[in-house]
Amino acid sequence: MRRIVIIAEHSDGRLKRYSAELASKAVSLAEGAGASVAAVVVGDISDEITRSLGSCGVAKVICLDSKSLDARSGCAIAKALCELITRESAFAVIATDTPFAADAMSRAAMRLGVSLATDCVAISLNEEKIFVTRPIYGGKALADIEIAGIPRMALLRANVFPIGVRKDVSPEVERIELKIPETGARVKELREAEPGMLDVAEADRIVAGGRGVGNSENFKLLRELASAIGAAVGASRAAVDAGFISHDHQVGQTGKVVNPSLYIACGISGAIQHLAGMRTSKVIVAINKDPEAQIFAKCDYGIVGDLFEVLPALTAAVRKIVKD
Ligand SMILES: Cc1cc2nc3c(=O)[nH]c(=O)nc-3n(C[C@H](O)[C@H](O)[C@H](O)COP(=O)(O)OP(=O)(O)OC[C@H]3O[C@@H](n4cnc5c(N)ncnc54)[C@H](O)[C@@H]3O)c2cc1C
Repeated sequence: MRRIVIIAEHSDGRLKRYSAELASKAVSLAEGAGASVAAVVVGDISDEITRSLGSCGVAKVICLDSKSLDARSGCAIAKALCELITRESAFAVIATDTPFAADAMSRAAMRLGVSLATDCVAISLNEEKIFVTRPIYGGKALADIEIAGIPRMALLRANVFPIGVRKDVSPEVERIELKIPETGARVKELREAEPGMLDVAEADRIVAGGRGVGNSENFKLLRELASAIGAAVGASRAAVDAGFISHDHQVGQTGKVVNPSLYIACGISGAIQHLAGMRTSKVIVAINKDPEAQIFAKCDYGIVGDLFEVLPALTAAVRKIVKD
């Protein structure tokens, strides 16, 4: 049977939420094409990961097994992916637009001589043709594109597609040893992001701070609100460049693209490069002491005020609601 191949990611023995979104979308595309979905998973897989993929309707799970740090390198995965694409008669390969998948997918596309559509916010299939929608010009316009070449390759933005729970499928599981090439990029070290902190790329709520936060110590105010509402902490590039917070929190053109239900921007002016990373958030709240700040033109709710007064009041109000 013809396949759509996806790359599914996991951590702590659980399928990432964005991979469940990807699997659900891939399954609905495959159903329309009389095909099925095979998920490629790198590293050890738990029964829970297999079950989660099964509940999205994935027919087969291919585990690329390796204990090597180089299993995180796109070189090894790209090579394995190319072999699987041929073996599985894959007419499409899709993954979530994460640094991990983008590394492997771009290398695989180069090896296969096909194009790769990145940052897609919509995908549809019409007979053999696959169409995607991508934001362009920093998110000011949307381009509809037909992907050329076989297989069609695309990276989908996280937090865009709903998770569809299907009747339980028990996927076939195959384990393959991931071969690490002698040459190419090597992974020397893996460092955990701040333990216990949600990743902005996955979060459904984000409290983000900019230069207006003033210093790293003051980010405590944002962390308190974030913890009260179950949000991740994001940042503008100015805050990251000033050393207030690490780069993995940066949202924007040269940071992460996010799409949460709620984005609270504190002391952020709303530069186009920041908006490029968060303008599709469902509800945007801006806290800024400058009534002329650009962010007010893009937000759903604007609070003109000093974040050092507004944030503690907001956190206290949320805690009161939760307590009551
Ligand atoms: C190629 C390129 C790529 C870039 N990529 C990114 C990117 O990925 N992400 C990104 O964010 N930027 C990016 N930038 C930078 C971008 O242009 C802006 O410089 C940056 O977003 C500004 O960050 P900011 O809003 O925190 O700072 P500022 O523009 O300095 O704004 C600070 C805001 O805080 C407000 N403020 C100050 N004190 C308070 C207070 N006490 N209470 C409330 N409000 C207060 C001020 O009124 C002001 O509006 C990029 C730029 C370039 C050229």
